[in-house]
Amino acid sequence: MLSPSLRRGLARRALSTSAGKPSRTSKRVVSAVAAFTAAGVAAYVLLPDPTRSAPTLKNAPLSPRYFTPVTVVSNEESGPDTKVLTLAVPPEVLAASDPNGFHTIWSVFIKDDDIQVERPYTPLYGIDDKGHMVFWIKKYPRGEVGRWLHTKAPGEKIEFRGPLATWDWKNDTWDEVVLISGGTGFAPFHQLLSTVISNPTMSPSTRFTLLHSSKRPEELPPPSLLQPLIDYAEQHPERVNVDLFVDTSDGSAASNLHVKRIDRSAIESALGLIKPTPSWWGWLWKQREPQASPKRRVFLVCGPEAMINAIAGPYGRNLSQGQVGGALGEMGLKPSEVYKL
Ligand SMILES: Cc1cc2nc3c(=O)[nH]c(=O)nc-3n(C[C@H](O)[C@H](O)[C@H](O)COP(=O)(O)OP(=O)(O)OC[C@H]3O[C@@H](n4cnc5c(N)ncnc54)[C@H](O)[C@@H]3O)c2cc1C
Repeated sequence: MLSPSLRRGLARRALSTSAGKPSRTSKRVVSAVAAFTAAGVAAYVLLPDPTRSAPTLKNAPLSPRYFTPVTVVSNEESGPDTKVLTLAVPPEVLAASDPNGFHTIWSVFIKDDDIQVERPYTPLYGIDDKGHMVFWIKKYPRGEVGRWLHTKAPGEKIEFRGPLATWDWKNDTWDEVVLISGGTGFAPFHQLLSTVISNPTMSPSTRFTLLHSSKRPEELPPPSLLQPLIDYAEQHPERVNVDLFVDTSDGSAASNLHVKRIDRSAIESALGLIKPTPSWWGWLWKQREPQASPKRRVFLVCGPEAMINAIAGPYGRNLSQGQVGGALGEMGLKPSEVYKL
C-alpha cells in the first residue's frame, strides 16, 4: 500500500532515524541502509528529513510541511490487532485550512514522538466538519508506530502532517473502479467509497467493485466500517459490489464470505467476466450483435507486499509502479489500468 512518493518518504524516515539518537528501530534501520545503493544513500542523506526538520505549528492551516498537534477523541478495539482511532483537529486550524487540499485519496503522516519516526495513515472518512478524522490502525508485533498509537488514550496529543495525496480520484473518468485490498489496505478504499457515495454529483455512473481479504473472519474490518458498505451495495447493486474473502475459517464464517485468496477467477467472477460457453446458435447470434464499447476501467490494489505481488506484480525499480503482473497481468491489463497504492 505504498505510493512511490510515500515509499520514498518512508525510506527517508528509516534512514534519518539511524543518523539520529539510538532508537527501537536501529536494527531494522541498519539492514535498510545496507540495502540502498551508494548513490541512493547519498541522495537520501542530502535530502532534508521532515520528521526532524519540520516544525510543529499550533494554529497554522494543515500542511504536509509541518506538524499539527491534534487530540485523541477515542481509541477503541476493533479486532485482534486493530483499533479505531479518532483524532480531533482544533476548529480554528480546520477553519484556516484549504478545503481543496483534501483530494481523495489522501493520507497523513503521524509522528511517534518517543522515537521521532513517522508513518502514513488514511482517514477512513476524510475529515468532517468538526475536524474529526477516524483511522483503522493495525499493530504489528515488532512494529513501531502502530504499537505506539494503540497505547494512546482520549485527551492525549498526537502530531501529524498532511494531507498528502495517495491517489487522485477524477470525476467522470471511469465506468468501473475495481478495488482490491488486504488487511488495513481497506482504509484508502473506504475513504474513496465513503467520499464518492456520499456525494451524488460525483461520478454517478461509475460502478465500484470492492474485493477485500483478511486472514480470518475476526480480522475483517469491524462492522461499523463494513456494514454500511454492504447495506449500500445491497440497495444499489448497479453502483457498488462488495466481495469478502478470508484465508481460513473455523466454519462459522458467514455464508457471503469466500474462504479462499483473491485470484484471477475471483476477480473475473466479481466483474461478470466468466460467462457460460455459448451454444452454436448463441455463438452465431453473438456475431450479429453490435459490440459494446470497451469499459474505461481502473484497478487499484492496496495491501501487504506479497498480496500486491500476487494480484498485480511487484513494484518496479526505484519504487516505480513496475509492470502489471500477477492475476491482473494474466488478464491482459495495461499499466494505465492498474495502480498499486
Ligand atoms: C499511503 C499509506 C496509507 C496507510 N494507511 C494505513 C492505515 O490507514 N492503517 C494502518 O494500519 N496502516 C496504514 N499504512 C501502513 C502504515 O503506514 C505502517 O506501515 C504500518 O502501520 C506499520 O508501521 P509500524 O511502525 O507499526 O511498523 P514497522 O516498524 O514499520 O514494521 C515492523 C514490522 O511489521 C511488519 N509490517 C509493517 N507493515 C506491514 C504490512 N503492511 N503488512 C505486513 N507486515 C508489515 C514489518 O515487516 C516489520 O517486521 C499505510 C501506509 C501507506 C503507505
